[in-house]
Amino acid sequence: MSNQKPPIILGIEGTAHTAGIAVIQGKNILLNKAITYTPSQGGIHPREASEFLGKTFPELLKEVKSELSLNFSMLDAIAFSRGPGLGPCLRTTATVARSLALLLNIPLIGVNHCIAHVELGKSLLQTCDPLVLYVSGGNTQLITYLNEKYRVLGETLDIAIGNALDSLGRELGLPHPGGPQIEQIALKGEKLLNLPYVIKGMSFSFSGVVTAAKRFIKSHSITDICYSFQEFTFSALAEATERAIACTKKSSLLLTGGVAANQRLQDMIKEVALEQEVECFVVPKNLSGDNGAMIALAGLNMFQVKDFITVDQSRVKPRWRTDQVDVSWIHS
Ligand code: AMP
Ligand code: MG
Repeated sequence: MSNQKPPIILGIEGTAHTAGIAVIQGKNILLNKAITYTPSQGGIHPREASEFLGKTFPELLKEVKSELSLNFSMLDAIAFSRGPGLGPCLRTTATVARSLALLLNIPLIGVNHCIAHVELGKSLLQTCDPLVLYVSGGNTQLITYLNEKYRVLGETLDIAIGNALDSLGRELGLPHPGGPQIEQIALKGEKLLNLPYVIKGMSFSFSGVVTAAKRFIKSHSITDICYSFQEFTFSALAEATERAIACTKKSSLLLTGGVAANQRLQDMIKEVALEQEVECFVVPKNLSGDNGAMIALAGLNMFQVKDFITVDQSRVKPRWRTDQVDVSWIHS
């Protein structure tokens, strides 16, 4: 057995709405802090969100320093969300990460945000090779690992499911983010309205469903609209997931990303898992949305194979796809 001490890593998340900082020691999450930007009206404005991150990171770092019983000089690496995400937000986050790495003279690790959601689920729930349904504000993908890459088996052809829920929420006059509110309102829905059911192979599309749902606002109750919207969009996700399990023959299924907090979606996905006889893992609500711990945990895997970047190499990648990352830490 190696008696090397588990590395201590600080993870910084800042791809869009959430400023998150976490410190882990090995896989143990010592501290995980996040503050989320809420737009005063409309959707997330990239410049406003990046200004929010720029103000919030120094506050969070101060809190982390005072609450943590270890000195920053004990950190072994800084991991940060390098992409995909909103350019201005990524640049602010990268600036904080680079400064800390230079100041402390420790390695810098550039983490893919989508893969971090996956790695967090795998690490927390101890499943090693799942089929993943990743559902969040900016991304919706069916992912699995094969030959040194995470492969995208299916994905949204337009907007992400979280974005769709939030934009429907705005049309319904609900505060941002609409997803959790729609979940509560949908519980009282009774009538299934006829919305488009969009599925193409293992991919899905949500913007037409949002447009169709908006057209019902004058003629139908908000409860029936929310209920129907969830039923149609989540069913498409569940059907695509079922196909992906049948194709890949994976023995476990992982549900991750902010929308994984939705009980109706969880129930549908668990039913699919039961029918396909696979184990189902759902990332707990407190860690399903964007957070620093997922960046730190993905960073830990990269630390172990010395997947570091220099400051010169650390340009952000706003369109960095899940399937473009060389996954050097999984040995199959
Ligand atoms: P993320 O981008 O992974 O942080 O996830 C944020 C997204 O999750 C937002 O679009 C939220 O509306 C959505 N979300 C959070 N909780 C729920 C919920 N209970 N039901 C549906 N969507 C949710
Ligand atoms: Mg996310």
